[in-house]
Amino acid sequence: ALVVRHRMRSSGRWAKAMAILREFEDKCGTPIGKLHQVADAMTVEMHAGLASEGGSKLKMLISYVDNLPTGDEKGLFYALDLGGTNFRVLRVLLGGKEDRVVKQEFEEVSIPPYLMTGSSDALFDYIAEALAKFVATEGEGLHPSPGQQRELGFTFSFPVQQTSIASGTLIKWTKGFSIEDTFGQDVVGELTKAMERVGLDMRVAALVNDTIGTLAGGRYYKQDVIAAVILGTGTNAAYVERAQAIPKWHGLLPRSGEMVINMEWGNFRSSHLPLTEYDQALDVESLNPGEQIFEKIISGMYLGEIVRRVLLKMAQEAAFFGVDVPPKLEIPFILRTPHMSAMHHDTSSDLRVVGSKLKDILEVPNTSLKMRKAIVELCDIVATRGARLSAAGILGILKKLGRDTLRDGEKQKSVIALDGGLFEHYTKFRTSMESTLKELLGEEVSESIVIEHSNDGSGIGAALLAASHSQYMEVAEA
Ligand code: BGC
Ligand code: MG
Repeated sequence: ALVVRHRMRSSGRWAKAMAILREFEDKCGTPIGKLHQVADAMTVEMHAGLASEGGSKLKMLISYVDNLPTGDEKGLFYALDLGGTNFRVLRVLLGGKEDRVVKQEFEEVSIPPYLMTGSSDALFDYIAEALAKFVATEGEGLHPSPGQQRELGFTFSFPVQQTSIASGTLIKWTKGFSIEDTFGQDVVGELTKAMERVGLDMRVAALVNDTIGTLAGGRYYKQDVIAAVILGTGTNAAYVERAQAIPKWHGLLPRSGEMVINMEWGNFRSSHLPLTEYDQALDVESLNPGEQIFEKIISGMYLGEIVRRVLLKMAQEAAFFGVDVPPKLEIPFILRTPHMSAMHHDTSSDLRVVGSKLKDILEVPNTSLKMRKAIVELCDIVATRGARLSAAGILGILKKLGRDTLRDGEKQKSVIALDGGLFEHYTKFRTSMESTLKELLGEEVSESIVIEHSNDGSGIGAALLAASHSQYMEVAEA
């Protein structure tokens, strides 16, 4: 009798856990009609953000990049790519149209977590020191010409109100960074002062967002690149806009007639977004409540955390892992998106990768196959929602540009440069995003839209933009 009662209780628990999962799945739904609504809302917000400063949650930041690389860029340039838990320093020798990137060297340095929430000086000193060390390794033929100052393209992947191509103030931190005294500061000034402190003589020639760098890097190889999207720790997009379609731009009309816009789409929000109680709680408890709502349901920093929160609820309210809630499961951000991806891609018949992740990360020693299957399903729900919403965001851009339909049957090719760890490493996320975009555009139009992986384009892109904004332009072109 005891055994029977126990069984009944455990099947009741299972039903409860599944009810929690099903309800979450329902709330995460992204039917095609909803995605069209999201895309339309994105287009509307793009217009509003371009119309006036503060006109929308979408900041639609002016990048001051009105010319994209042509291939003619020449010379030795540096780039610094800061935007996540690592930063990269690059040295690039550009050889012009024929030779392109003659040589490229880089180093990756991880940022100790305490620096992400410490002081501005400490962060920039750390970066400047790493850069100075890297500069000291300049080899044969990789020196600047005599008498020339070294020049740098600075990729800073946070929202910045630019005041020129090489200056701009930080609007806010995202992605786990939170350093109070950087607000309102010119980040180029901060870096330049730090370089002076460590005795490095270098001039920042261009300050760019990673989306802008990726767009520039993409355009260097393909003239049809019109937009760039980052799906990584954070998410964002940039695209080439007609200068005349930017009412808030009061400067001179650029000769190209174009201006690259950093959308900061991570901050997009709309009543059409499928948000759940878990997303709301995550947001409230985050370092930036109320901000980056689109980012918080799409990007790599958060997907694993959403999975953890749903699992925790299943554990607490339906004893999914048994009577005790695994203590590790209560630790925010312990389940990272790469772990989630590994579980989601587990193809073994007994889902042993899922089992070992649960054991290693959550210290749950024994899980049944049924439980593992439920967890894979949970990963699928979270990843699919993010992937499909990012496809809707891309459709929003294409709509704004009038490239979501065939104009007079003419086939105009549009290439979108994609980068970021989520896109690069989370296969199911990528394929879902790509197939959703096809579904949204329809067979015929989707033939003219190309998604292209621009591997680490943002570093090269920043170096290219430093080259085109070099103070030695004539020399470089000679
Ligand atoms: C930042 C963007 C950046 C994106 C991808 C977001 O959190 O606000 O500036 O482009 O992450 O790195
Ligand atoms: Mg890469």
